[in-house]
Amino acid sequence: MIPANFDYHTPKTVAEAIGLLAEHGEDCKVLAGGHSLIPAMKLRLTQIPVLVDIGRISDLSHIKVDGSTIRIGAMTTHGAIAASADIKQHCPLLAECGAQVGDQQVRNRGTFGGSLVHADPAADWPAAALALNAELVLQSASGERVVKASDFFVDMLTTDVQPGELLTEIRIPVPAQPMASAYLKVPQAASGFAIVGVAVQLEMDGSTCKAVGIGITGLAPKAYRATAVEAALAGTTLDDATLSAAAAKADADASDAMGDIHASEDYRRHLTRVYAKRAVQTAAGRV
Ligand SMILES: Cc1cc2nc3c(=O)[nH]c(=O)nc-3n(C[C@H](O)[C@H](O)[C@H](O)COP(=O)(O)OP(=O)(O)OC[C@H]3O[C@@H](n4cnc5c(N)ncnc54)[C@H](O)[C@@H]3O)c2cc1C
Repeated sequence: MIPANFDYHTPKTVAEAIGLLAEHGEDCKVLAGGHSLIPAMKLRLTQIPVLVDIGRISDLSHIKVDGSTIRIGAMTTHGAIAASADIKQHCPLLAECGAQVGDQQVRNRGTFGGSLVHADPAADWPAAALALNAELVLQSASGERVVKASDFFVDMLTTDVQPGELLTEIRIPVPAQPMASAYLKVPQAASGFAIVGVAVQLEMDGSTCKAVGIGITGLAPKAYRATAVEAALAGTTLDDATLSAAAAKADADASDAMGDIHASEDYRRHLTRVYAKRAVQTAAGRV
């Protein structure tokens, strides 16, 4: 449980961090909350010659509601998002999701950005980021680029982040009113990670569902957007028959299904369909 030797840097600004990432290239990794990276290093699943700890860059920890956009710094902790009055008011899905990540210690230390870049197939945040059409801001020595959540998650533990890039901010459109949302998951008992998790963001027009975003984690090697369910629900009144038919398609967009000692592939697919229906029903009940 002792990691291989590494050099350790503690930049105070984004520019300094980006300079270090550019200098060390693929030999270097960002350290955020350390909840995934440090165990992997201690178990020698990975050996990183250079660590750039971004925990002292105050610019990376913020929650701002800026007109029609919520801007969240990559180092903002799960707990800070779950507790934020602005988030509860403008985007309750994020607060509900953040409150279900791990336990209090994990929520105090783990970060929104770290979780998204790590892209654990059982992590909670990717489902919410997909349902909310989040955009991720990546900065590097060659400038800034913005990636949609739907393009960000590439595969298991793999994202579109390139060597030298730092995720600095996550931008989320403030959901249009009237809206309602829900995040429901079946947690793995020991860690809290999602065996299956479903994030739903509804936009209503009277009793009609005008638009819906649904992100699903836990089933597939990467979180995905349940586009078949979304298409089947848009323009309907979310009656029970429509909901059942739509939720039956909840695993249709999964690239593959994972099975392990906690849940088989078939059981995960079943849970996905059941929880997709429950999550939409729960959200609809909150309109
Ligand atoms: C006991 C336990 C229980 C947990 N339960 C849950 C749970 O129920 N649900 C859940 O979703 N998660 C859970 N987690 C995961 C945890 O919440 C963290 O979100 C996760 O480990 C990654 O975030 P971090 O800030 O710790 O990132 P780190 O471990 O520091 O980094 C993870 C990876 O992302 C990269 N990275 C981090 N930040 C950036 C950045 N800004 N730019 C570029 N690259 C970056 C790092 O280089 C590394 O590769 C649990 C963790 C533990 C230890």
